[in-house]
Amino acid sequence: EDDASQSVGLPKDKLLGGLLSAGFDERSCLSRYQSVMYHKDLSDKPSLYLISRLRKYEALLKQCGPYTKSFNRTLEQLKSGHYNGPSDCNYVVWISFSGLGNRILTLASAFLYALLTDRVLLVDPGVDMADLFCEPFPEASWFLPPDFPLKNQFNDFNQESPRCYGKMMKDNTIVNSTGSMVSSFVYLHLVHDYDDHDKLFFCDDDQSFLQKVPWLIMKTDNYFIPSLFLIPSFEQELSNLFPKKETVFHFLGRYLFHPTNKIWGLVIRYYHAYLAKADERLGIQIRVFDTGTGPFQHVLDQILACTWKENLLPDINRQQDITNSSGKQKSKAVLMTSLSSGYFEKIRDMYWEHPTVTEEVVSIYQPSHEEYQQTEKQMHNQKAWAEIYLLSLTDVLVTSSWSTFGYVAQGLGGLKPWILYKPENQTAPDPPCHRAMSMEPCFHAPPFYDCKAKRGIDTGAVVPHVRHCEDMSWGLKLV
Ligand code: GDP
Repeated sequence: EDDASQSVGLPKDKLLGGLLSAGFDERSCLSRYQSVMYHKDLSDKPSLYLISRLRKYEALLKQCGPYTKSFNRTLEQLKSGHYNGPSDCNYVVWISFSGLGNRILTLASAFLYALLTDRVLLVDPGVDMADLFCEPFPEASWFLPPDFPLKNQFNDFNQESPRCYGKMMKDNTIVNSTGSMVSSFVYLHLVHDYDDHDKLFFCDDDQSFLQKVPWLIMKTDNYFIPSLFLIPSFEQELSNLFPKKETVFHFLGRYLFHPTNKIWGLVIRYYHAYLAKADERLGIQIRVFDTGTGPFQHVLDQILACTWKENLLPDINRQQDITNSSGKQKSKAVLMTSLSSGYFEKIRDMYWEHPTVTEEVVSIYQPSHEEYQQTEKQMHNQKAWAEIYLLSLTDVLVTSSWSTFGYVAQGLGGLKPWILYKPENQTAPDPPCHRAMSMEPCFHAPPFYDCKAKRGIDTGAVVPHVRHCEDMSWGLKLV
């Protein structure tokens, strides 16, 4: 901690304005209190109400968390399979599913849902959650115990599962002939392929029904928070928690996601070696969803067109071999992330082969090039998490459309990125990029349904703070 404060600046408020609770063992998770030395200040102060609700949640977890009396009692209900009345502790179980960026966004969504509904969030550790993230709550674990009864069904849960909420609604099997609930648990299918029945999750009547179910098991790959803002019964609470809507993921992310010491080592070694000394840091996150192996010329053209047009990088001077600089030249460090190394190599060479018109010194770095998305390799997601975090430490950020990897970086960093538009037909779009309206992630698969009127509507036009995304016309984001 001392080292970091000396090299990065004055000691700052390590509890982030009360967002983090004091009293964690610092050594077991150095990033928790050290990240403040590396990040810019929070983009805003967390509301006192948010802080009080977080402390209340931490107390609830202590009372209801794994291995407590209440937990064991509620678990008995789950094992019996039958619903037998309301329970003093209720749970939402998050199933580990999809890529790292997606998982971070869905975990934040599930946590906010737990806060809103007074549930305890329990996290399926999957293969690598415990390697990547510190425990965010003091004194009680957020992980689901390894012997959790439904655990071996997590992979198989889908829209056709008998306890899937959408399926039960479709088949009218949610209550029995006497009108009482049949099951002590419900599976919520909130994956991008979900249907209109699954989407009833976002309706008030359904929420008041779900409120009674002790165990909700959730599988999702989407940042569904924007649609929670359209549920009338959550409206007031959400506006008390987040007076400024665009800070939702920023605050939840900085509260929940602390890299483990292993990842933190990757982050700060890289930061000190390549980024700390520059006058300015630019992050460029490249994610290409086209099939075929890159690098693609049109993507390279697009990166340069965007960074030059928006003055994020100086143009190169092709007329002169060398410029005679007087005085100290400003330095700019560029952190690129991509599965391939092609873009990085071309841009790095360009700034080696030519001087810049502004005489700025530009250095280009890329920590890894893993070539393709992998799931089983341990180090793969460790590097990915370190890179997301490093991007969040930059001053200015360029991201790729549709990528949750970029959303997490922008949200943690409190940065409104320039978004590279998605290329169509192998050509660089014009304009190449666009400044984001807010630092919030985009919900890629929102419902378009008016629960009261029971008909389709444009959910991006209901309230001013829930709009369509810059990078996906049908997506929704908070602004
Ligand atoms: P998304 O697919 O861009 O929305 O992001 P996800 O994080 O959900 O899934 C992409 C996965 O591919 C990541 O979890 C990484 O494992 C890998 N990946 C994608 N881009 C990069 C990158 O720039 N660096 C590294 N190390 N991994 C990446």
